[in-house]
Amino acid sequence: MLAKAFGMVRFEEALEITVNQAIVFGTEEVSFEEAPGRILASDILCDMDIPPFDKSAMDGYACRRADLDFPLEVIETIRAGIQPQESIGSGQCAQIMTGAALPAGADTVIKVEDTVGEDPSILPHTHTHTRLRLIRFTGDKTPANICYRGEDLKAGEMILEAGTLLGTRHVPILATVGAVTIGVFRFPSVGVLATGTELVEPGNKPGVSQIRNSNAYQMIAQLGKIGIDADYFGIAPDDETATRELIREALKSDDILILSGGVSMGEYDFVPSVLESLGIKIHYSRIAIQPGKPTLFGTGRGKYVFGLPGNPVSSYFTLELLVKPFLYRCMGHHWVPPFQRFQAGQSIIRKKADRLGWIPIRINTDKQIFPVEYHGSAHIFSLKNADGMIAIPIGIKVIEEGEWVDVRPI
Ligand code: AMP
Ligand code: MG
Repeated sequence: MLAKAFGMVRFEEALEITVNQAIVFGTEEVSFEEAPGRILASDILCDMDIPPFDKSAMDGYACRRADLDFPLEVIETIRAGIQPQESIGSGQCAQIMTGAALPAGADTVIKVEDTVGEDPSILPHTHTHTRLRLIRFTGDKTPANICYRGEDLKAGEMILEAGTLLGTRHVPILATVGAVTIGVFRFPSVGVLATGTELVEPGNKPGVSQIRNSNAYQMIAQLGKIGIDADYFGIAPDDETATRELIREALKSDDILILSGGVSMGEYDFVPSVLESLGIKIHYSRIAIQPGKPTLFGTGRGKYVFGLPGNPVSSYFTLELLVKPFLYRCMGHHWVPPFQRFQAGQSIIRKKADRLGWIPIRINTDKQIFPVEYHGSAHIFSLKNADGMIAIPIGIKVIEEGEWVDVRPI
């Protein structure tokens, strides 16, 4: 019955199958202050021209460019936020602050550093102006130093598209256009369940033949990083009935379930058969990647199940490689991992090349990559100094020293 599910799929195929199953779980409204980590469900349009008025980019004097060679009478001081009262005529200027509205008649702001005060007695009619203030431009030339109305954005223009993963840099943009309440995709509800009779919770001292459950907490932390607050369903012992009951309970409350362990070829790996008995169709259960071969994905009854390998490095990587793109897709976002290119500081060799290899690496201060000490998929300590992971394609055994390699952060 499971024969088809046990056929091995290539990683790219598995990823495509997985993200193609994704659906969104509705939308909700949140304050723009909660934007980081959320994904926009509708476009954000600019509600007004930005800047909304011609404004000075400098502290200085607003005047006419044609007058730059002459002494200028200061007729007003314009502060940011205060509307200018006067129009600038020939031979006149207004002292102006950065961000203040440009007065009518002015086409240039000369910065204060490019001016000197001028003695009013040089003018023929000074006796009529008892408190006349004069300045003169001392520079050779000057840009206009004006931020023009609408030069950044016009009213009605789209500023952020639906599907955008929002970060801190989007908060001031939302504030600027007054988008204080935004529509975002809901987080799916995600459950986490560990399997394995050998497991005890981390607060307990393992007995003979036991180990601590690290995967569940690893997965919960990885999910937390993308904003998902997972429900934890504990440890299912390697017993068919107990496993079925816990999976059934988890699927009752959550849309997506992520299991660790119990999906390989062992006699007590009950996860695939239990899932099928619960109406979950398994799309794949073996992937040509290393680590991570015994990785399962199934759907059914509106639920989505990942069975990740029990070995901790495998479950770490497969969550990054398959679950994360899926979850983002369920939140309306086509996530692309942020690869960066570095040169290999030494040659990196592997023995077999029949699967896509993922290897943890570190980046040194000369921006070269080196493999970390890595004893295989059970060696979770290998990740403690890892900065990222690199892929070695099927058929390739060696990355030569000096070769450029794409590094994916972990
Ligand atoms: P399995 O995929 O169930 O065959 O497990 C493969 C290996 O991963 C075994 O050595 C397990 O003891 C180990 N393992 C399984 N689950 C966990 C877990 N939650 N935390 C740490 N190690 C685990
Ligand atoms: Mg197991």
